[in-house]
Amino acid sequence: MKNFGMYIHIPFCKQKCFYCDFASVKSSKDDNLLYKQYIEALCQEIVLYRELFPDICLDTIYFGGGTPSILSADLIKKVLETVSENFKFNSNCEITLEANPGTVDGEKLNSLKQNGINRLSFGVQAVQDELLKKIGRIHTIEEADLAIDLAKKAGFNNISVDLMYGLPSQTLEMLEQSVQWAVHKDIQHISIYGLQIEDGTVFGNLYDKGKLILPAEEDTEMMYDYLTQKLPKYGYRRYEISNFAIPNFESRHNLSYWQDKPYLGLGAGAHGYYGDKRVQNPFDIKMYINKCNQKIFPYEAEENVDKKAHMEEFCFLALRTIWGINKQKFKDTFNEDIHKIYKNIILKLIKKGLLKETDEAIYLTSKGMKFGNIVFSEFLL
Ligand code: SF4
Repeated sequence: MKNFGMYIHIPFCKQKCFYCDFASVKSSKDDNLLYKQYIEALCQEIVLYRELFPDICLDTIYFGGGTPSILSADLIKKVLETVSENFKFNSNCEITLEANPGTVDGEKLNSLKQNGINRLSFGVQAVQDELLKKIGRIHTIEEADLAIDLAKKAGFNNISVDLMYGLPSQTLEMLEQSVQWAVHKDIQHISIYGLQIEDGTVFGNLYDKGKLILPAEEDTEMMYDYLTQKLPKYGYRRYEISNFAIPNFESRHNLSYWQDKPYLGLGAGAHGYYGDKRVQNPFDIKMYINKCNQKIFPYEAEENVDKKAHMEEFCFLALRTIWGINKQKFKDTFNEDIHKIYKNIILKLIKKGLLKETDEAIYLTSKGMKFGNIVFSEFLL
């Protein structure tokens, strides 16, 4: 029985953060009916997938968004019940829910835990209220603090937080405070994100008008260096370019993306990967609901992954992790020696100090991690 991951997208947020171009919409107070309809559609999509993949076993389930914690615990429970009625789970299935402080209380966290969620990922981003407001977050640091305490009280012992750097008016000292806070809260996993300015966002518009003041490039680089050097000193191993974890608390779901494992993608805007095929659902929520209600697979884009595209992705996804590209796995997957395909590229990148090679694997050096995009582009055939 083949192991699969399952990604479930919840595309609703209380408010759009100023930097965000993720597939999510601001929901209003009257959206309870829409949430219900959306969850019914999701359950329908789960049934459709069972018919397509009757013999798979779920290894990880990930509720991402958007803000999955905006939903009531009962709606999340309904999804999990439908998944378990239709699929087999591994006994140690990792079930993550992305949560935002300000959308959870003790009661909801208790119910989520009882219903099977065993990992929480909180979007904290920073610990200064003024900065949180400036980037359009809905929560205060007091709420983040309380949310973590309540999550622990509910029995969660696998908690991740997201932290951002390179934010407007953010200084290195402010970032240090965020890291200290996470360490002090005994968080098991930290994801770091440098601010990206995306078109169509509040920050994108301000930037175009010259009204967004960002830290100088060298200050942002200092923040990156601080994070990558300091977090390992606190015991967080950098197991992927942007992810740090106490050993054994790596995100198994995200690792499956980087390790070329198949996953189903459910919900508006979600995409799935079955090894030889990629599919993408429409982001239009009404369209998604309508299709599911008619028992039609909602995906609108379908792409066969040919050998060349598969090799490229296999390499640059594997390179994101500290384990790098396993040479034997490459050979088993493609029936080719990696050196036959990439010999000159590998030698060139080793010479530049961006890659290292052992008998088993090819992986990024710390310089390579910093300039990952240069390396990845070289792996395009
Ligand atoms: S909470 Fe997350 S998904 Fe929602 S707007 Fe903010 S960054 Fe985007």
